[in-house]
Amino acid sequence: MTYIGRFAPSPSGPLHFGSLVAALGSYFQARSQHGQWLVRIEDLDPPREMPGAASAILRTLEAYQLEWDGEIVYQSQRHSLYQQQINAWLSQGDAYYCRCTRKQIKQTGGFYSGTCRELKIQDSHGCAIRLKMHHPVYQFDDQRHGVIAIPNPLADEDFIIKRRDGLFAYNLAVVLDDIAQGVTEVVRGADLIEPTGRQISLYKLLNQPCVSYLHLPLALDEHGQKLSKQNHATAIDDSNPRPALIAAMNFLGFDIPKQVLQATLGEILQWGIENWQICQLPDTLEITPRFSNESR
Ligand code: GLU
Repeated sequence: MTYIGRFAPSPSGPLHFGSLVAALGSYFQARSQHGQWLVRIEDLDPPREMPGAASAILRTLEAYQLEWDGEIVYQSQRHSLYQQQINAWLSQGDAYYCRCTRKQIKQTGGFYSGTCRELKIQDSHGCAIRLKMHHPVYQFDDQRHGVIAIPNPLADEDFIIKRRDGLFAYNLAVVLDDIAQGVTEVVRGADLIEPTGRQISLYKLLNQPCVSYLHLPLALDEHGQKLSKQNHATAIDDSNPRPALIAAMNFLGFDIPKQVLQATLGEILQWGIENWQICQLPDTLEITPRFSNESR
């Protein structure tokens, strides 16, 4: 079976150090297995997006010489696929409309207990759509971290597949797209460990072979916060990619020999592909990288 991996950034801002780590980890893992590396723009949530961010992300990948395979997929162009699947589940009785607000759920302990499950609500106005949890997943295997447990009641919850505001949920879109694109392994930041159980439950419901997972350590800022576009993490430099590339490779556990450090960008990446091993990854899930000034 050919390996197909992907990098799936949300265009809520330009690429920062943490997203470069995810891009590189998925790239090395795919290329070291002579696999394909796809790029998908997860533009599902316009209010959180920044105009121009999608093209800025692609320009940055090009500046870092991270060449992807095939056409870029944009989730904003795939709404009909998501809706069709939701309609099928609604008509089979696997999904249902839910009126509960976030506030109500918070008041009852923070987890959804299935209040609207059997109400057969027909008027969808102002409702979210939830999926009946038929295949709860309490643990999964991560390529670096072994068995990761998913606590109850999170695993049992009927989760949202379409939000009250009409936006499609990340868990739904990511799984339908990974299936449609033939992805065999998901390599991404450890911040997405928690939803992994829900995503595996979708593969089960859809009767599809599940992908394997590799979660990369999260880069934290000096305050212990995840570097994120929402926290306005500094964009990495397109005009001088070498320092951030090397810092991100060090973060991923590479020990780059001196002569390679002086090589061209393409040669550094090639060395990375040839020397990549999952066991080199730090075994912690969160790390504060030590940046030199020029690597940010
Ligand atoms: N779009 C998600 C993000 O930027 C990543 C999704 C994934 O890799 O599964 O955080």
